[in-house]
Amino acid sequence: MANPVLPSSGVLSPLGLDAVRPAPGFWGDRIALNRDVTIAHCQEWEEREGWIANFRGRLPRKGREFSDSEIYKLLEAMAWADHPALPELAETVARAQEGDGYLNTRWTGNRYIDFEWGHELYCYGHLIQAGVARLRMHGEDRLTEVVRRAADHICRRFMDTSETCGHPVVEMALVELYRATGTERYLEMARRFVERRGLPALAEIPFGRAYFQDDLPVRRAQSLRGHAVRALYLASGVVDVAVETGDEELLKAVEAQWERAVARRTHLTGGMGSRHTDESFGEDYELPPDRAYSETCAGIASIMLAHRLLLATGDARYADVAERTLYNVLATAVALDGRSFFYANPLRVRVPAVPLNGVNHAAEGGLRSPWFDVSCCPNNIARTLASLPAYMATSDAGGVQIHHFTPGEITHGPLALRVETGYPWSGGVRVRVLSGGSGQISLRVPAWAKGATLAYGPAGPDGGADTGGSNISHMSGSREVEPGYAVVAGDWRPGDEIRLDLPMAPRWTFPDRRVDALRGSVAVERGPLVYCAESVADEPPLADVAARISSAPIDRPADPAAGPTVDPAAGPTVDSVVEIEVAVVLGAPATDDWPYGPVPDAPEGADTVLRLVPYHRWGNRGPATMRVWLPVAD
Ligand SMILES: [Zn+2]
Repeated sequence: MANPVLPSSGVLSPLGLDAVRPAPGFWGDRIALNRDVTIAHCQEWEEREGWIANFRGRLPRKGREFSDSEIYKLLEAMAWADHPALPELAETVARAQEGDGYLNTRWTGNRYIDFEWGHELYCYGHLIQAGVARLRMHGEDRLTEVVRRAADHICRRFMDTSETCGHPVVEMALVELYRATGTERYLEMARRFVERRGLPALAEIPFGRAYFQDDLPVRRAQSLRGHAVRALYLASGVVDVAVETGDEELLKAVEAQWERAVARRTHLTGGMGSRHTDESFGEDYELPPDRAYSETCAGIASIMLAHRLLLATGDARYADVAERTLYNVLATAVALDGRSFFYANPLRVRVPAVPLNGVNHAAEGGLRSPWFDVSCCPNNIARTLASLPAYMATSDAGGVQIHHFTPGEITHGPLALRVETGYPWSGGVRVRVLSGGSGQISLRVPAWAKGATLAYGPAGPDGGADTGGSNISHMSGSREVEPGYAVVAGDWRPGDEIRLDLPMAPRWTFPDRRVDALRGSVAVERGPLVYCAESVADEPPLADVAARISSAPIDRPADPAAGPTVDPAAGPTVDSVVEIEVAVVLGAPATDDWPYGPVPDAPEGADTVLRLVPYHRWGNRGPATMRVWLPVAD
């Protein structure tokens, strides 16, 4: 089973890369671009920076103390993509491994002297994840041999100590290696790493122990906290340990932490992290749009955690958050050409970038960077997109569940389905049965999709579901469906189809009033996409606009041939754009010598129209300012 997460129990079982095959479409295009462009791009930069040469023993060593992990994430991406460059790169890594399994180009000869910042176990975590990917896609080879030796070294060295790593990830990696090999000590090692955290296991640091989740035992924590990527990787590993050891209390603890973090510490985009200084979550409702950190890796880690909780519980809420984060963090973080990246994903940018020789290494102001000194995000994007089909659909004893809509084919047992959709540009999803079988087919209805409808039956003469005609032979129906899962049970025959229609009108979204930084503002969403205003030559100054919520936002297909007017289920399959127009008041206040006064500031100025673009598309047209949240004018 070609899958990054394969629990031995749980409500849902993931269908892997062998069972979910995307066709051209929003995600299919990005998966292909990742395989054809981004993976090679990352390898070129890792060679150029000398991070691969570190494994060849070249001195002086280049890169940060955790740069080995970038090569491992790239190896994982190559494994999922079945990339031809993998064996040679794996051989380079293998030659650096020491006789007892130890492997780290930074600390070799000086092992395990800094658990707070050394990242040795963190690097092993990513190495092990690469090995699991290779094992499941290909079988045993040089890379998996290296990984087993490293994992055995970890178990020998750490099973009976009280040590752990300042940056989690080895926990979920070891559980997955246990799942892939059946070797129980890997699970036990992961369990011990989880349980010793917060006793505490690490030294005090200026950021405080919450930074690396060592302030409290996992079972006692109330919310996700501290460094967002660390917190989300740890929580993912905790779910894995809880599921494999049957520890309900531990699973419930993470569910509660996730609930609170989603309710109080998550940006509209699904992004997590509000503080730049220590890359941390921040306090409840501390969600300033301009200071949103929302690291790309935190978004990816949130998708990993939500996916694990979905598999464990079957609750659609987890898939909803994963979808929000997929479309508004993952898709945003990589440019449309697959060669540059955002590290932070704020919801408001006040200053356009000033590139140096065309490159903006800060990745701010609307220009992504081709690489970073700390280049966790590009490789994380590469491995996530390479394994993304495994997040799309699951099965249980009753049938198949489709959580994320993208064109392609899904097989499970005798059942083969083709999904046709222009999602997220249009709301029609058609699931056509290619080869039959009995059981339930479930389609997720996102929480925002009030008034969605479901129709099913044999294919009609026009190729669409004929729900009222005379040729219905064995089953048909049509009904409104609530958010959650729309379930149809039946004996499926080739040609049968299910049609889900999700309402795609743009909608105003208001913040909880406890989010001080957003009070009095409004955002626009359409389907799973968050929209933003991006400064281009013909747009008004974004600081001076206020939205008229008395008039509804209106769709405006950027390309008339590819907008929502075409048949929503048949297309578009390419990455088209729907823009949205909102009425705004444009103008600065009458007095602006002092920004405070005895009466509330009311916007005055001319009414005009502001064009919004999907947030994930911003920053593909050169330096720009941008805002998601607009002040309300009326
Ligand atoms: Zn990152």
